[in-house]
Amino acid sequence: MNVRAQISSVFHLDKCIGCHTCSVTCKNLWTDRKGAEYMWWNNVETKPGTGYPTQWENQEHSKGGWKSDGNSLELRSGGKGKSLLNVFHNPNLPTLDDYYEPWTYRYDDLFNAPAGKGQPTARPVSMITGKPIDPQAGPNWDDDLGGSKLYAANDPSLEGLSDEEKQQLFATEKMAFFYLPRRCNHCMNAACVASCPSGAIYKRGEDGIVLVNQEKCRGWRMCVSACPYKKVYYNWSVGKSEKCISCYPRVESGEIPGCYASCVGRIRYMGVLLYDADKIKSTAMIPAKELAAAQRDMILDPSDPAVISAARSSGIAEHVLNAARRSPVYRFVKEWKIALPLHPEFRTLPMIFYVPPLLPVLAKVENGVANMAEASFSSLEQARLPLRYLANLFAGGNEMEITAVYRRLIAVRLQRRAATVGDIAAADVTAAQQEVNAEMANAIYRMSALTSMQERIVLPPLNREMSIEAVVDPHEYRGSAGFGIRQAPARRW
Ligand code: SF4
Ligand code: SF4
Repeated sequence: MNVRAQISSVFHLDKCIGCHTCSVTCKNLWTDRKGAEYMWWNNVETKPGTGYPTQWENQEHSKGGWKSDGNSLELRSGGKGKSLLNVFHNPNLPTLDDYYEPWTYRYDDLFNAPAGKGQPTARPVSMITGKPIDPQAGPNWDDDLGGSKLYAANDPSLEGLSDEEKQQLFATEKMAFFYLPRRCNHCMNAACVASCPSGAIYKRGEDGIVLVNQEKCRGWRMCVSACPYKKVYYNWSVGKSEKCISCYPRVESGEIPGCYASCVGRIRYMGVLLYDADKIKSTAMIPAKELAAAQRDMILDPSDPAVISAARSSGIAEHVLNAARRSPVYRFVKEWKIALPLHPEFRTLPMIFYVPPLLPVLAKVENGVANMAEASFSSLEQARLPLRYLANLFAGGNEMEITAVYRRLIAVRLQRRAATVGDIAAADVTAAQQEVNAEMANAIYRMSALTSMQERIVLPPLNREMSIEAVVDPHEYRGSAGFGIRQAPARRW
């Protein structure tokens, strides 16, 4: 057992209000610079919708992530040979139109325009050319319009839905959408790391944060196309790739990442997960529909004496193990099984997990009135967001996996409703308790609704000065496209 510790996250989508405070915090902290205008290391998109950059989930277009026939694992964009051929021209990059042309407004005109009959206006101007533009796209262009035909119809995750399901989704009176905050997943099997010809991207051994060494980066941009989540960006001003750094300077000085600190909906949880690095390759080759469960199986129980002993042998310190035992992420993902990775079929083993949105499936509308008392497990079949769509997003298309999560979430909601309002039938309460027992339902409710920042975010103190720097990668397949990719070992904290 090769135990690693990773700082990982859960985003509770029922709590996200789509305020974009997280995105703005990140922009002010890290990407308010020349060449980074169009970058949103953290963005929030409306789903169903095409997202940012548009159609990022369509891997036919950008060849991101890994592919596997069950026996081998290789980057969708190709191995070392192809990467060499494309080194001076990468054909799989998103274009500026896929992102948007960043713009600002001529605010000065509001103050300095000569006196006239009309109100002065601030015209939009391109932040790249400085010339006036007519904006046609933006990082959240389809905000709150995700359910509308115009945008939602092009969502790649609608693949496989019947015409009837699509009609149900787009019918104006039933239109439903939710917000999906996204940042780099700091994946276990990061495609960006494996694709880099310069070995500039690496995963820190001590906490799993994936970083771009700016001195080594040569701007080949293989990472931009290889990341299936499109969370590496090219800075056209300095000629280097950049990405979310999980606010490591803040984390190392005892602060939490900016987007977590500022999250208005308190949807973000952060904590240590332990996993067995020896299983990365075999897990990443598993059929798509089994990947979400297989990734959950890789996560180790931090209270298991065998795991503790193996973790100590791997150099993981006691205070990291202590933090792992108090990890809210472990509870959501492993104990309660209500958080799933986004698009596990990309095979990067992402380390942000999502509690899928419950809201659209619970209330039953009768004569135009939402009747919560009528809500029960049967409401799952009448979900306004088709389960197949949610399965495409969070379970590699496995509807049984997503149904199991929803049954647990509904069981918690029914028990809380019974406790606080008292209008749930006794038979439904009993059925709910068989799904999730009363103690666990209370714990899930507490963690979802009542916790303080200290319980939502549990990080061990970092002593960066004690860390061991990168050594040769132990997973030879990581070098399939890069040349001598490195991964730091688990560090003695
Ligand atoms: S989300 Fe993309 S950029 Fe982040 S670690 Fe995974 S593959 Fe790399
Ligand atoms: S700050 Fe929190 S609630 Fe607001 S959009 Fe971001 S993740 Fe959602």
